[in-house]
Amino acid sequence: MKFGTMLIDVWQSFFTKPVTQRYPFERLEAPDQYRGKLVWTAGKCNGCCLCMKDCPANAIELITIDKKAKQFVMRYHADRCTYCAQCVQNCRLECLGMSHDQWESAALKRQDFVVNYGSEADVAHILATYGKPSAEPAATSATE
Ligand code: SF4
Ligand code: SF4
Repeated sequence: MKFGTMLIDVWQSFFTKPVTQRYPFERLEAPDQYRGKLVWTAGKCNGCCLCMKDCPANAIELITIDKKAKQFVMRYHADRCTYCAQCVQNCRLECLGMSHDQWESAALKRQDFVVNYGSEADVAHILATYGKPSAEPAATSATE
């Protein structure tokens, strides 16, 4: 590029709106079909564990507290998830979905990628009983 042409480009850039976004101050809306973080609706879940068995990345653990009372905690390992949506398609009770607006998944520690879904009391019970989740794949994923 000639020096003169470069100067013209630099001059013009002072009067042109930038094409980049000022993220994180400005945030683009993702399309509705975008596959972001996995979300779980506890109310309908019957604890069949199909999602857990079907997940190719071992990213889901369903921890049963009381199956009759439908008390479960779902532990989601976002750092293992490949966002394939297989679990979403295979859940017959439509408890799972991929949030289109929760796509910011950066974290400083691996533990921050572990998400416990469930009522506050159930999650507290699980953490007190089994301790903090390991970042490594669990040997046993659910309890009866
Ligand atoms: S497949 Fe659906 S109903 Fe079965 S455990 Fe998973 S979320 Fe619950
Ligand atoms: S989207 Fe795919 S990888 Fe992620 S939890 Fe569901 S089945 Fe597993």
